[in-house]
Amino acid sequence: MDLFEYQGKQYFARFGIPVSPGDKADTVDEAVAAAEAAGYPVVVKAQVQVGGRGKAGGIKLADNADEVRLHAGNILGMDIKGHVVHRVWVEHASDIDEEYYASFTLDRAAKKHLLMLSAQGGVEIEAVAESDPDAIVKLHIDPVVGLDVATARQAAVDAKIPERALDGTADILVKLYGCFTDGDCDLAEINPLILKPTGEVHALDAKVTLDSNAAFRHPEWAEYSATEVLDEREQLAKTHDLQYIGLDGTVGIIANGAGLAMSTLDVVNQVGGSAANFLDIGGGANADVMAAALEVINFDQNVKSIFINIFGGITRGEEVAKGIVEALSRVDLRAPIVIRLDGTNADQGREILANAGIPESKLRSEPTMLAAARSAVALAQN
Ligand code: GDP
Ligand code: MN
Repeated sequence: MDLFEYQGKQYFARFGIPVSPGDKADTVDEAVAAAEAAGYPVVVKAQVQVGGRGKAGGIKLADNADEVRLHAGNILGMDIKGHVVHRVWVEHASDIDEEYYASFTLDRAAKKHLLMLSAQGGVEIEAVAESDPDAIVKLHIDPVVGLDVATARQAAVDAKIPERALDGTADILVKLYGCFTDGDCDLAEINPLILKPTGEVHALDAKVTLDSNAAFRHPEWAEYSATEVLDEREQLAKTHDLQYIGLDGTVGIIANGAGLAMSTLDVVNQVGGSAANFLDIGGGANADVMAAALEVINFDQNVKSIFINIFGGITRGEEVAKGIVEALSRVDLRAPIVIRLDGTNADQGREILANAGIPESKLRSEPTMLAAARSAVALAQN
């Protein structure tokens, strides 16, 4: 789950990371009140989950109430890369000497945490990675060992962060790592991490992605669900408890098991198509689950064909087939289904489908995953 900047900053503050005093505001009047409380000058910042808000005009400095009114009025309702601004964050403005970049993520391949640190912050890190890759220090951290101040300081030295910012940076890195681990983040990023003329180091922006699998440990995360940004498809999937991720393609995907679902996306791509979603119905592919899955996929206007890819292990082929037949009687699908059914009791399952009286234009069975992908992609492209 992605947090808004203001939520990320409040999360940072719990782990002792210095951020500017401020408040959120949904109206111009609230923005003025927040500015008065924070103290002028202030910065008015659009709260949308997309980068480059500054360039898009979503971040403005204000010296008095009139300027806050002007900027908050312009920013609230603004569309930034398809995200409409419903809320601003107003904080006391900082003087900036330098802008750095710091983040922690999980490097799954290395099975370690990864610190990325650069003295070139404030711009997109992808741009730095392209123009000057050596300007980014990457340090793997063994989660059992953790990160101490000395190691963090050395990383800052390696990143060519100047002497007077080293202690402040090391201190924040250790706290940010605490936020990342104890706070159960998938990503904890500060861009820019600023050096003030006073010598203090400070988080000016916050990008936090929480690991939803850890939600059971964090009852306090419930407040974030209220503002979680999901597209309509994902909202519908969530109400059905489905493991669904919306994508931009035209082939709707249903598979059992996350690994098979990912392979299904790959094979669709491989034969020249594009997936509309990831959807793992898990082991219990009964009629209710199948109907819910088809309902969510049917809701997606981009879907031109549906590829159901089932390999039965514990899941039994005849159960899947019954589920599909019943689901089809409940949901009126716009797109045709191509199914590849294999594994436990697959023959029985195929027989049930063949005898269910469903026209070939609505459902066809293919013997292999590749054949089914080709067929689904061809249907989507017609
Ligand atoms: P992003 O563009 O969406 O990543 O938003 P940021 O919060 O990172 O802000 C973008 C830029 O706005 C920063 O890199 C700063 O240069 C500038 N900015 C943000 N807050 C302040 C502030 O308090 N004072 C000053 N002088 N500039 C700020
Ligand atoms: Mn930023």
